[in-house]
Amino acid sequence: MTLNNTTIFKQACLINGDWMTTSDRLDVTNPASNEVIATVPNIDGDTINKAVDAAEAAFKLWRKVPAPERGEIVRRWHDLIVAHTDVLAEIMCCEQGKPLSEAKGEIAYAASYVKWFAEEAMRINGEILPGAAAGTHIRVSREPVGVCAAITPWNFPAAMITRKVAPALAAGCAIIVKPASQTPLTALALGELGIRAGIPKGVLQVVTGKASVIGDALCKNTKVRKLSFTGSTEVGSHLMAQCSHDVKKLSLELGGNAPFIVFDDADIDRAVEGLLKAKFRNAGQTCISPNRVYVHNAVIETFQTKLVAKVNALKVGNGLDDGVDIGPLIDAPAVDKVIEHVENALRNGAKLLAGGQRLAFGSNWYAPTVLTDVSATAQCACEETFGPLVPIIPFASEEQVIGYANDTPFGLAAYFYTDNLHRAQRVVDEIESGMVGINTGVISAANAPFGGVKASGLGREGAHVGIEEYLEMKYQCYAMKNL
Ligand code: NAP
Repeated sequence: MTLNNTTIFKQACLINGDWMTTSDRLDVTNPASNEVIATVPNIDGDTINKAVDAAEAAFKLWRKVPAPERGEIVRRWHDLIVAHTDVLAEIMCCEQGKPLSEAKGEIAYAASYVKWFAEEAMRINGEILPGAAAGTHIRVSREPVGVCAAITPWNFPAAMITRKVAPALAAGCAIIVKPASQTPLTALALGELGIRAGIPKGVLQVVTGKASVIGDALCKNTKVRKLSFTGSTEVGSHLMAQCSHDVKKLSLELGGNAPFIVFDDADIDRAVEGLLKAKFRNAGQTCISPNRVYVHNAVIETFQTKLVAKVNALKVGNGLDDGVDIGPLIDAPAVDKVIEHVENALRNGAKLLAGGQRLAFGSNWYAPTVLTDVSATAQCACEETFGPLVPIIPFASEEQVIGYANDTPFGLAAYFYTDNLHRAQRVVDEIESGMVGINTGVISAANAPFGGVKASGLGREGAHVGIEEYLEMKYQCYAMKNL
């Protein structure tokens, strides 16, 4: 670990433009080795309230900065993130475990949102509408929401932050970020690059500490007007309740249970490739990762043979090593969950085709695994596994598989493969999901609206609508004299 030599490696909180530290510290470990690689402050609720006061003061000035200038500062942040790709990726790999190549990919993806919203700063347009009564006209303007808070997960330590911070800044808001305790170092490095880009003090703050203490303080503080959260549905609904007392604006990007459907008319090689990309990225710890794979009876043998050959060829290892496809899971409880799901499926009649065991590298490692003949009601088909497990469930008809796909409280992403255009349109219309990949397993993009329906969340990130989450409309009715 040579990160101490890099100037963006910070072990302090960014509060009102200063790096603040405490004697009470939280360890950050490398999931590949369980080695402690850093410590970060465990700050208290009073400090959070001071950060909110600083954000409120900063917001009053930042909102008045002309849009081109705000956009230019956000764009400079983008350029610095891109210029620091290698070191950011190394920090991410060490605290999160994903392979270095994937970490670099995430930095590029995270930066793409910053660039997108730097440009969107110039498109916060209003409207002039016909007046409803004689002599009136209607004007609608858009204003920044105010002080925002962002609480983010460990699986994408950079992108889940930039998807919130960049639109907030472009809109003219100030924002306080609380990253996941397992991956605060990438967030703190992004904060340092923000200072270097010229983001004024108090406009972007990054705080670390116990989730419930920081979450409570942010939710109770009436000066915080918006919370954007990415993480589990359980914590999201808790925060939603906590934000109800003063009706804060909310964006929630929550859990998924994505179906991946292979119809009998699909291109099987493309389906296998698409599944590998979507499923094993980040060792399956992705909210849009296919969680249940439905394959038509007519093509299941061919699909399984091709998939298992590819899965057995995946290289598992330390993300810093060359050629590694899959790193460790985030922690031992994550591995325990995969084991529970595999054992439950096997007890209910599933057959093991690949993997199916812990790996000797340490407590956080599990082999890429394929099960077939999984029951449609097995635990792994109903709950997000968040690990490198492909459970294959056979199906016989379009109607049956749409029933399976929609039989979940979640609706984040869905994927299906077919070469029949009519079927494609029918299935898209029926499927209950915020995002659908048709003949592709790669769907995320800065200019596309990312988000879910049902218990997968509220609101969208990215696209031209992403900035709306940080804006409020103001309707003005003008009555003209002497008309
Ligand atoms: P999590 O346990 O919900 O944690 C997410 C964030 O919430 C972390 O920063 C965590 O802090 C914080 N948190 C936990 N308890 C809290 C509380 N009582 N008050 C305030 N904050 C609290 O989720 P996770 O395990 O990190 O992430 C996995 C989940 O995120 C999966 O369900 C996945 O599907 C979902 N996810 C969704 C999307 C999406 O865009 N829809 C994207 C990525 C992930 P600590 O780390 O300090 O505990």
